[in-house]
Amino acid sequence: MKTKISFAFLISFLFFSVIVIAQKSSLSYTVKMDNPEWHVYSVQLSCKGIQKEFIDFKMPVWTPGYYQKMDYAKNLERLKATDERGKELKWEKTTDNTWRIFSKNSNTVNLTYEIKTIRPFVATAYLDETRGYILPAAVFLYIDKMINHPVQVAVAPDKKWNRVATGLDSVAGKKFTYTAPDFDILYDSPLLVGNLEELPSFQVRGIRHRFIGYKLGDFNKEQFMVDLKKIVEAAVNVIGHIPYKNYTFIAIGPGPGGIEHLNNTTFGFNGSNFNNRESYIRTLHFLAHEYFHHYNVKRIRPVELGPFDYDKGNRTKMLWISEGLSVYYEYMVVRRAGISTDGELLNAFRGNMLAFENKPGKRYQTLEQASYETWSDGPFGRTTDEINKTISYYDKGPVVGLLFDFKIRQVTNNKRSLDDVMRFLYKEYYQKKKRGFTEEELRSAFENIAGTSLAEEFEYVTTTKELDYPKYFNYAGLKIDTATQVFLSPYVGFTVREREDSVFIAAVDYESPAWDSGIRRGQQVLEMDWQKATPKLCKTILSNMEIGKLIKMKIISTDTTAVYKNIIPVKKREKTFLIATIGDPSPLQKQILESWLKG
Ligand SMILES: [Zn+2]
Repeated sequence: MKTKISFAFLISFLFFSVIVIAQKSSLSYTVKMDNPEWHVYSVQLSCKGIQKEFIDFKMPVWTPGYYQKMDYAKNLERLKATDERGKELKWEKTTDNTWRIFSKNSNTVNLTYEIKTIRPFVATAYLDETRGYILPAAVFLYIDKMINHPVQVAVAPDKKWNRVATGLDSVAGKKFTYTAPDFDILYDSPLLVGNLEELPSFQVRGIRHRFIGYKLGDFNKEQFMVDLKKIVEAAVNVIGHIPYKNYTFIAIGPGPGGIEHLNNTTFGFNGSNFNNRESYIRTLHFLAHEYFHHYNVKRIRPVELGPFDYDKGNRTKMLWISEGLSVYYEYMVVRRAGISTDGELLNAFRGNMLAFENKPGKRYQTLEQASYETWSDGPFGRTTDEINKTISYYDKGPVVGLLFDFKIRQVTNNKRSLDDVMRFLYKEYYQKKKRGFTEEELRSAFENIAGTSLAEEFEYVTTTKELDYPKYFNYAGLKIDTATQVFLSPYVGFTVREREDSVFIAAVDYESPAWDSGIRRGQQVLEMDWQKATPKLCKTILSNMEIGKLIKMKIISTDTTAVYKNIIPVKKREKTFLIATIGDPSPLQKQILESWLKG
């Protein structure tokens, strides 16, 4: 009896499903850029088969990968809605990013609107006479509670332009037309439009990797692609599996920033900067970072980072994993690819140590807090004096990652490493459970691989405890100089910047003479040594200062009153964090260092 009912139910369910499929709804966009010099995209949406009294169309407030509220909705203008007969439909805004269209059960709703673009940046849409960068979260509306609806996008490039670069699948037979199975994929797939340059692609494990961009610059492109291929191979070797069908590096033009996606990355790029080794390695690190993110954060991810909440954003305490360990692996991958030297690798970590250790934020904010607060603090910490109460997970994250890696290698006799933790998270949570991991699951993954408690190391994540570098570096036969060095040159610990003939404090070192006398970033300097402060005077006084000889400054403090400050130059004291190998490593120390460097 029970079986019979279920069977009947199953039959009626299948029948019902067929009906639903037969009346499938569709969403298709067309993006036009007829007058690119106006910096405006004209967008048309044809929405069919969603018969409702009203439909709520929404614009995301952020784009995944850039953990900041961007308020894209404010750039939408001239919205017009019509039904299948061309009759105009009424609409109203119900929230800052929701447009309610009173569609009155019409089978077709056509929307037209414009997206005003202002700034060329990886997390904003942009259009000018030279190229268009369509950041989908800033251009395409989704229907409330229908984020999983398939969507088609047709691009009509300006007639001067010949190419579109995107990670989206093309529609066969239709030029510049793409599909996404849902809006998560659409929002993950920017489109770059213009006269683009494509470098010869390469294959890794039989999968094609492309590099396409606007204004790539003048550099040795052949060598660059050889190096990029080695980087992809080294990253793939960490996890051992490639999850995508193809991958595209999309260079959007000179400028900062990059965003990771499932099968592509979009980033600012200028190959003409490759004239010195340092900037070349820095760019390769940056590309390795964005590439490694297709594993770490897009697939190996904190449970909170999916499904995305396009209205509010998603907060997690684990960005130190997603961002911090992506910095860790950007260095490791470029080293293991045989491109950077041991010295360049150690120096990269040293740079993060100096940035983290020389800021007072290390006593205020933990790695977990920095992760969680990024939505309010900003991607690189708070601004003004509040910056002193924050840390950056881009600095402390990779350093703590390094301590974890050395510890795991040491307690397992170099049988396991941080790579095993990443592989486990990938297999267990991305491939098997198809979800993110919780904080408890993350910690068990680390401790199961290590085969012991890592309570001491997790305190580096959850507290502001001082990092014991020498102990961990010693596991790999390395020594690090954490002693305070005294330098002979006079030092006050602040720099100034000039704005319209006025002089302002640009930066103040923590616990420097300037800091101790109450000088803070952003304050205006009125006088130095009883004379009106000018950029020239400040430069002269600072370059002629002597140890022990007082400098008198009149500044405007935050409460707008002018006060005098006495600053006495001292000998500079600083930790160098210089790293070197020890003279007589044990076999285990030697083994750990070698396998860490080579992967
Ligand atoms: Zn990142």
